[in-house]
Amino acid sequence: MNFLRASTFTSFSASSRLRQKLPRTFATISGVCEPLPRESAEIVIVGGGAIGCAVAFSLARAGKTNVLVLEKEPSLSSVTSAQAAGLVGQVRTNADRVKLAMWSVATFNELQKNEEVNPNWRQVGSLRLAETEERVEEFKLMESVCKEAGLEMGIISVSEAKRKWPGMKFENAKAILWCPTDGYLQPYDLSMTYKHHARQKGVQFYTDCSVQSIELSPIKQVQSITTNRGIIKCETIINAAGAHAYHIAKLVGLELPIIPVRHQYFISESLGKDAIQPTMPVLRIPDRTLYVRADVNSILCGGWEPTAMSLDPRSYDLSGRPPGIQEDWPVLSNFANLLAEGFYPQVNQVGVRRVFNGWPTFTPDGKFILGRTKKVGGFIMAGGCNAHGVSGSAGIGRHVVESLLNKNPSDYVKSLSPDRFEDGTWQWDAAQNKARGVYETYYDLSSDSLKSQNILSSDGKAQGREQRTVQQYSKVM
Ligand SMILES: Cc1cc2nc3c(=O)[nH]c(=O)nc-3n(C[C@H](O)[C@H](O)[C@H](O)COP(=O)(O)OP(=O)(O)OC[C@H]3O[C@@H](n4cnc5c(N)ncnc54)[C@H](O)[C@@H]3O)c2cc1C
Repeated sequence: MNFLRASTFTSFSASSRLRQKLPRTFATISGVCEPLPRESAEIVIVGGGAIGCAVAFSLARAGKTNVLVLEKEPSLSSVTSAQAAGLVGQVRTNADRVKLAMWSVATFNELQKNEEVNPNWRQVGSLRLAETEERVEEFKLMESVCKEAGLEMGIISVSEAKRKWPGMKFENAKAILWCPTDGYLQPYDLSMTYKHHARQKGVQFYTDCSVQSIELSPIKQVQSITTNRGIIKCETIINAAGAHAYHIAKLVGLELPIIPVRHQYFISESLGKDAIQPTMPVLRIPDRTLYVRADVNSILCGGWEPTAMSLDPRSYDLSGRPPGIQEDWPVLSNFANLLAEGFYPQVNQVGVRRVFNGWPTFTPDGKFILGRTKKVGGFIMAGGCNAHGVSGSAGIGRHVVESLLNKNPSDYVKSLSPDRFEDGTWQWDAAQNKARGVYETYYDLSSDSLKSQNILSSDGKAQGREQRTVQQYSKVM
């Protein structure tokens, strides 16, 4: 692949917007801006990415509409969610996770029916290729888990796969798993669709509004939230602040291991409309840690790096940002070579149109951090998405609502509670290594449940894997 011809793209470049000349009283880091028109709300959601918008949508559907979403950037869904590839996969090795993903897909199907505002959801199906006998065994495990959850999928032949994606060499696959209800969507459009429906029911969204502190009563109950645009009295705060979810939790005294890990993919230059059509299924080649989908006559290709770069969230503060990311061409060209060798040589005959990257957050046990904490009344988590924050958003929104409104939530929702990270039971170094290991072993043969059993044991190091920190990262740029 011709990476020298690649275009450049820097993430975290907040879109500019002309500010209105209105009375301004509250100082911000970048200047001043207008006070919020509201002084109270029942529920405040911090963060207007895919998760914050999905939670707002789910609350509105559940009849909770006295809700504000506060986003510090000038536009919603402009940070991690804007970078996502939009892949929506339901095949997992844990039935609860399959069901959560199935709920998301059911929601996307419903939202797509609206012709004017929709997430551009394409239910094209997905193909997962096994190159080893061990992977074939894993596919069998996945089949039984998906059957238990009620998800349709199964093994198909090479010729069937070829009909779905002509030009791809499937002959090297020992087994091909087909899930007809998977697909992909446009993450920004998804957030805007959630917002559209939530606003219709009365939820309000404010951008350029950064949360700075949270006030608790003497019995540790949420009372109000302070922003650069004023104070809002509220009973409940939902933390959907992505790579800042650690900092928002810290405002109420919770120490949570929410670890940003760098992720990236590229979109190739055009391969021609005869070669690539938007109806082609999403492709996953776990033995090469790769995922692929069609994108306007081009290939979108990303992967999970065996030695990932992670951040300690304490290295930047609430008003700051994680470091900007430059394209890592050696890693990206390795993705292209892995795809070209034996599967799709055409990818190396064109250049790169664009690179996307960001800092999705991971947790030491690979599970979301979601729901209530016993330590602070009215404080709810919706973070640590382990790179499922777009595909899982509707399911996560549903579970947040369950945690908030249901006095006895399901065992699965309880298992995601932030309280599993009790003070004194874990250390930062180990937690960061574990979370990075979840990223690095994303497509490894171990099941989600096996991974989670390793939670915070011993020194937390991902076996046999070299630690790569942001300091080393700056050297390889
Ligand atoms: C390259 C890449 C590809 C990916 N591909 C996929 C994919 O195919 N499928 C998938 O499901 N996931 C994918 N992901 C992961 C996905 O992007 C994340 O899981 C998801 O975007 C997380 O959403 P979020 O709302 O939690 O975070 P964000 O989108 O980062 O939103 C958090 C928001 O909180 C705001 N905020 C922070 N602090 C404050 C404050 N003090 N006050 C007010 N607002 C605040 C931020 O400005 C931000 O807008 C990918 C990620 C990357 C980087």
